[in-house]
Amino acid sequence: MNTDNIDPAEIDKFDALAQRWWDPDGDFKALHDINPARLAYVLEHADLDRGPILDIGCGGGILTEALATAGAEVTGIDMAEKPLAVARRHADASGAQVEYLASTAEDLAQDRPSAFAAVTCLELLEHVPDYASTVRACAELAAPGATLVFSTINRHPKAYLLAVLGAEYLLNILPKGTHDYAKFIRPSELAAAVRQAGLQVEEIIGLRYNPFSRIAKLSSDVDVNYLLRAGKPKQ
Ligand code: SAH
Repeated sequence: MNTDNIDPAEIDKFDALAQRWWDPDGDFKALHDINPARLAYVLEHADLDRGPILDIGCGGGILTEALATAGAEVTGIDMAEKPLAVARRHADASGAQVEYLASTAEDLAQDRPSAFAAVTCLELLEHVPDYASTVRACAELAAPGATLVFSTINRHPKAYLLAVLGAEYLLNILPKGTHDYAKFIRPSELAAAVRQAGLQVEEIIGLRYNPFSRIAKLSSDVDVNYLLRAGKPKQ
């Protein structure tokens, strides 16, 4: 297995927290809170009838399972064992049909090139050593004409204040140490990596999260959380 693009400390962190993944008020509550907005965005742009969808860095499966419930044929991959076990158990209990695999995007790209009509890679890129490598693997996994949706956090001072100081230290929305500001990615940097991988950037859109109302909405403000939607040319 190619383990180059994995940070073991990141994997340990997610393993340690896995049991609370599906607690809507637990360590991953922000993922639960933002899920309706990002799910709606993926469903609006990815045509579930065109073929299977791949969710990369799926963790405990919050988005993955919601996609399956919406009717998608979905595969979720992650490198942390415990979140994957939690995801499998949750899908068994809920009856959702999801294929969960322990894999990096790079490894799956060797086995299933061009296999997916849509690829989602949400809140993962800021946790890998080389995000451009992950983006390239996403491009290889996508079928010609596929839609890809990435999300991450902007390396902007406002993101340091809100996503690190605010969320981890003041409001306890995220466990301390979840995010490393230096690994945040500017939209222009992600767009460049996406283009270098042979994809077309279709939209960059902000996701604004209000921790008090616990509601997230798409927004023109990309200073903190944002999504980037790309297309793989039909050739
Ligand atoms: N995408 C999910 C979970 C985000 S948390 C969601 O948005 O709901 C980030 C996840 O990325 C964790 O589950 C972590 O185990 C996983 N991860 C970190 N590095 C990885 C790598 N190199 N390959 C695959 N998954 C990885």
